Amino acid sequence: METPDSTSVTSSHAAYDIERIRADFPILARLVHGVPLVYLDNAASSQKPYSVIQAVDAYYREIHANVHRGAHELSIRATEAYEGARDVVADHMGAASSSEIIFVRGTTEAINLVASTWGAAHVGSGDEILLTKMEHHSNLVPWQILAERVGATVRYVDVATDGSLVMEDYDRLLTSRTRLVGVTHVSNTLGVVNPVAEIATKAHDVGAVCLVDGAQATPHMQIDVGTLGCDFYAFSGHKMLAPTGIGALWGRRELLDSMPPWQGGGEMISEVRLDGFTAAPLPHKFEAGTPHVAGAIGLAEAIRYLRRIGLDAIHAWESALTTYAMERLGEIDRLEIYGPKQNRVGVISFCYADIHAHDLATILDQKGVAIRAGHHCNQPLMEHLGVDATARASIYLYNTHSEIDVLVEALGLAAHLFGVT
Ligand SMILES: *Cc1c(COP(=O)(O)O)cnc(C)c1O
Repeated sequence: METPDSTSVTSSHAAYDIERIRADFPILARLVHGVPLVYLDNAASSQKPYSVIQAVDAYYREIHANVHRGAHELSIRATEAYEGARDVVADHMGAASSSEIIFVRGTTEAINLVASTWGAAHVGSGDEILLTKMEHHSNLVPWQILAERVGATVRYVDVATDGSLVMEDYDRLLTSRTRLVGVTHVSNTLGVVNPVAEIATKAHDVGAVCLVDGAQATPHMQIDVGTLGCDFYAFSGHKMLAPTGIGALWGRRELLDSMPPWQGGGEMISEVRLDGFTAAPLPHKFEAGTPHVAGAIGLAEAIRYLRRIGLDAIHAWESALTTYAMERLGEIDRLEIYGPKQNRVGVISFCYADIHAHDLATILDQKGVAIRAGHHCNQPLMEHLGVDATARASIYLYNTHSEIDVLVEALGLAAHLFGVT
């Protein structure tokens, strides 16, 4: 297996070469409505560097065949590439073994997998599932479905006005009835980084397991599941430079082993008889059907790319940019930013005077500025904040200070059009 470290450069010592990084992303060179694209919708999905696009392209051009089945050259090569991608993900996440990495479509599918299999085996009538009010719908609805099916109750940890979790509320709601604690590592609306290690330790103290939604964390920080101490960690490739339709679920081996299979079909069995089947060992037990081979290869390349630049260097760049954006936006009268000032990533939600978020996004789009507007799959959180939508600008490794300036200028235009004084 090629370890990601073997390809990393000593870039943490070199200056962050933003122009070189931007040149790696072909889409950043395009115009939108005749002006340069300013892409600030990274929390919804990131753009892709050449190396990822080329890895996917080369796979289809040179080695594509179905995996795990063929004895021919292409199938062997495709299988090696697919399983090699799993090794890269496992190494990157600090997994004890590659068999703890299940390839899935993304965070949503990963959480549904756990709710359907672990949930069906371990959650029953009267049990409780403890989530937070800032969870993405994909870490809410699968548990609500499970709770309804088995007669369990879902409880929610409160969010403070500064956007942090109310830990006293967590301590209060966590009881011997709690079977699972589900928490987002980083909020996709508030940008806040949650104290996942502490949450996991406390969950274990009452005999509960802890699932972490890592969709907004993996793009920006080095994850080590051992240090976090959680039991499941879910993430999506497309938010961290990889193609859509690929992501991974990491789970502790003993838990994954104890779980019944999820979808049935090819690839997930070691034997099928007319009177039943024997499931394949991990990880294939949870990967029914032909997998997204190209996606997995793209994800491995995305991880290599992030590691070549260095997640520490990326973090430092993004932190400086986030501070700058918060300062510039903070200078605008009647613009309210949600989420904390510290302990956050560059996911910046805001409301501006009486301008609806959708109108803001439309006006900004005319200036080439791509932001998100809406509830961000966080409807319960929106209700908690007392708004029906926010505008959200989200930063990634290729954004610049001058792009923040363009955002601020475009907000000035919106203010002018809507007569905000
Ligand atoms: C995007 C996101 C998800 C869902 O990810 P998909 O790739 O759509 O499955 C879940 N949780 C958070 C925090 C997200 O930002």
